[in-house]
Order: sequence, then C-alpha cells, then structure tokens
Amino acid sequence: MSKFDDVVRKASTALPPEELDMTLVCQKCNDQVDVGLYFATEKILTWTCPAGHKSFIEGFNLFG
Ligand SMILES: [Zn+2]
Repeated sequence: MSKFDDVVRKASTALPPEELDMTLVCQKCNDQVDVGLYFATEKILTWTCPAGHKSFIEGFNLFG
C-alpha cells in the first residue's frame, strides 16, 4: 500500500472526537473536569484539567 493510500484510508475512517458531559478526575492532580473528548476510532477518552494536565483512557468503549 502506498503512503498516499494509507493517508486516505486513515482520513476516511477517522471520526471527529465527540464531547461527552461526564465527571472525570485528573490523573495527576485529582482536579475535577466536567467534559471529556472521545475518539471513537482509537477508542480513547481524553480530558484536560484546569491546570492543563492531559489524562486519557485507552480502550474505552462508549457503548459497551
Ligand atoms: Zn490536573
């Protein structure tokens, strides 16, 4: 597969992240966050606390 095909395939399968209203806790400072971003293609849930720490969960199933 050419590099170009690979890029096109990724672009066509990737979904834009979805904003989820849920209570999350920063994995670094335990600050509370009320919204997370869910990347359905990669099954990654990520959120950023007010101090700018990025937290994430891999293999997160939104509908499971
Ligand atoms: Zn934090």
